[in-house]
Amino acid sequence: MLTIKNLHASVEDKEILKGINLEVKAGEVHAIMGPNGAGKSTLSSVIAGNENFEVTEGEIILEGEDLADLAPEERAHKGIFMSFQYPVEIPGVSVTNFIKTAINESRKAKGLEDMPANEMLKLIKEKSELLEIDRKFLSRSLNEGFSGGEKKRNEIFQMAMLDPKVAILDETDSGLDIDALRIVANGVNKLKNENNAVIVITHYQRLLDYIVPDFVHVLHDGKIVKTGGKELALELEEKGYDWVK
Ligand code: ADP
Ligand code: MG
Ligand code: MG
Repeated sequence: MLTIKNLHASVEDKEILKGINLEVKAGEVHAIMGPNGAGKSTLSSVIAGNENFEVTEGEIILEGEDLADLAPEERAHKGIFMSFQYPVEIPGVSVTNFIKTAINESRKAKGLEDMPANEMLKLIKEKSELLEIDRKFLSRSLNEGFSGGEKKRNEIFQMAMLDPKVAILDETDSGLDIDALRIVANGVNKLKNENNAVIVITHYQRLLDYIVPDFVHVLHDGKIVKTGGKELALELEEKGYDWVK
């Protein structure tokens, strides 16, 4: 589904990613762990097409298609979902209206008409019930005064509605309490299936108590230095990152 080959990326002429190789198949959950500054967020930004980073070598291939020349929106339309995609507060635009627009823009990019209103309502109902999101939340202004947990709920709702092929969740280390982690984990567990893949980026092992990964990769200084199964996360928790360096 997603293949990353010898990926090198720089920011302001400083090389951050130094040859990443990763193969993610449909139905798999991959965790990327690593110390602060290892390049985890850079990797997710580069996959999503963030133009602040320059890819100097290598390829990112989604279902056989090289993403190199595609803008972030085009990658999103092809099925790459990135958490923190829309971290901005948009007063006056509800959670529901925001996602309706996103879905219709994605359809437009594929030459499709807007989703009929009744179909949209049905989809919203189905996904919000699945994720136990109440109506009141759906009518709130996007991210305005959202708690950490509510931001996560919104992201997971977006993910459910957009139904991506590859979801990349960069769980930054700060501000995620246990409730927020549970929201993310429950959402991922309900949304993952045989036709999609999830990449969870995390500094801490505790998220992986709830989302059980098929593979754990350790990123250090811009390279994947170790790959293992879910037990690797526990080993890292116990021994720290110095052990893999
Ligand atoms: P992680 O998510 O693993 O903590 P990051 O990808 O955020 O690591 O950062 C990796 C390295 O890249 C760090 O040394 C960081 O300072 C640097 N870096 C990331 N983004 C930028 C940027 N926009 N400008 C300059 N340096 C950056
Ligand atoms: Mg960091
Ligand atoms: Mg980070």
